[in-house]
Amino acid sequence: MITLIEPQGYCMGVKRAIKLLDEVLAGNYPQPIYLLGKLIHNDIVMKQYHDKGVIILDESEKEKSLLEINKGTIVFQAHGTDPKLFTIAKEKGLTVVDATCPFVTLIHNRINAHIKEGYDIIYIGKSKHSESEASLSLASNINFVTCLKDVANLNITNDKIYVTNQTTLSTLDLTDIFTAITMKYPQAIIDNKICQATQVRQEAVLNAQYDLIIVVGDNHSSNTKRLYELASSKTKAIYANSLSDILSFNFSDYHNIGITSGASTPEFLVKQIYDYLQKLVK
Ligand code: SF4
Repeated sequence: MITLIEPQGYCMGVKRAIKLLDEVLAGNYPQPIYLLGKLIHNDIVMKQYHDKGVIILDESEKEKSLLEINKGTIVFQAHGTDPKLFTIAKEKGLTVVDATCPFVTLIHNRINAHIKEGYDIIYIGKSKHSESEASLSLASNINFVTCLKDVANLNITNDKIYVTNQTTLSTLDLTDIFTAITMKYPQAIIDNKICQATQVRQEAVLNAQYDLIIVVGDNHSSNTKRLYELASSKTKAIYANSLSDILSFNFSDYHNIGITSGASTPEFLVKQIYDYLQKLVK
């Protein structure tokens, strides 16, 4: 039996970002159209936009990339962007379209508000991820935690501590880190910001009973990676960026197959895999 593990399709933040970019492409915006890094972490979708003429600037060197352009429209990623880059883009006279997911903006607002009130900030995230980088750019002294070892190394003397996180982490890992922080700093305010789209998908995988789970999505996508880790902790799991990744896999030993997908995975990719498997098991 082949089962689509719900939910499937783009999350709210990805839908919004794609809609904004489509509006820019259909509208009367100054040319060329740039993305400062991938709008969403799915290379198949990004290639479609590249083929439509969108120029995707190097995500690892955002400031340098931005300084090299002098005209056109720049669309900022769903994961959020360093405020300094907004200033640079505006000073250069570029038209700026901000596709930051509202949940990420909410986290930025909370961090800024707590900094103003004199809190030390602990931010839990993945290093080198665009969302973490954008959140850490809000102040130079945010304590960045990626694992339990980082918690042990924290040395905060402030009585006021505010703790928040990247939206696409594993709920299980995050719970362990929150617990360690609370034991070390009982006064810390914990503000869990795993987003609903991430949490619901992770819970669906954790509650599922399959002998194989196919995780459809780009392996650069944080929430897709976390789904794969959770699925692997329960059963046999494989990644599939697209249908071609599973064509040589031997499915004969598996009779109860679940398909999950990341929040930035387009539904057509899931449907291609689902249709292929349906034909295969007939
Ligand atoms: S996963 Fe959540 S935070 Fe990230 S873009 Fe989607 S809705 Fe926004």
